Amino acid sequence: MSTILITVDVEDWFQVENFKAYIPFSAWPGYDLRVERNTYKLLEILDFRGATFFILGWLAERLPHLVRDIHVAGHEVASHGYDHILCNQQSYEELKADLIASRKRLEDIIGAPVVGYRAPSFSVDNDILKIIEESGYRYDSSFNSFAMHGRYGRVDLSRNRTRGIAVNVSADFYELPISNFRIGTRIFPLGGGGYFRMIPFPLFKLGVRKILEQDQAYLFYMHPWEIDPEQPRMTKAALSCQFRHYVNLKRTQSKLTSLFRTFRECEFVGCRQHLDDQAF
Ligand SMILES: [Zn+2]
Repeated sequence: MSTILITVDVEDWFQVENFKAYIPFSAWPGYDLRVERNTYKLLEILDFRGATFFILGWLAERLPHLVRDIHVAGHEVASHGYDHILCNQQSYEELKADLIASRKRLEDIIGAPVVGYRAPSFSVDNDILKIIEESGYRYDSSFNSFAMHGRYGRVDLSRNRTRGIAVNVSADFYELPISNFRIGTRIFPLGGGGYFRMIPFPLFKLGVRKILEQDQAYLFYMHPWEIDPEQPRMTKAALSCQFRHYVNLKRTQSKLTSLFRTFRECEFVGCRQHLDDQAF
């Protein structure tokens, strides 16, 4: 049976990289949190489908009950770092401290081990993967092969062993890349986020089918703010940034339901569960 891994980066609309130039970290406390109700709504839409939630430490500090409820609902709780600073903009020491602290904070809240990490804006490379491993994680899920996006990091895993979509990086450390559709050397962004909102659903689902044929598993990512069309508008941002953030927000929820309905025969699991299911 094919497997679908739904992954959610739990962050609010004002914390995204896209708006960082207009809303610095110091301004975050001034904004109303919308992430809580959006995440609960997402939990409802997911119903009993297993998923992984990569949660920002800054939010976990303020909303520990949300973290616990995600865990109690049977989903995987994982780390998205503390304050959404890109990995490659931190020193080795800063990144390592953030990786360890954000993992421990979540573990303290749920009383269970946290083993997964997603870098802000997929900003990983081979050296950063080593630091993530050293910081006590079992897997990273930040490699996005769609390289046209300048912020995404570059990783070479071409010589590593793979099984389905999991790549064995070292002894007991794995990368679970965002799924994209490949034809030869060309890569089409079908992993989720803004591309899920932009690409017409009939085309998107065709791509997902092809990915499932190629890999038997499909890893999708999204954010709670993507199902919140009523969120405040950041009109100071460049038009290209606004387009990327706001395009088709109204349709995300119904598209998500269509995705679940279309692939109802698939098994929906979190990242850790998927790793456990692979016999390396
Ligand atoms: Zn993020």
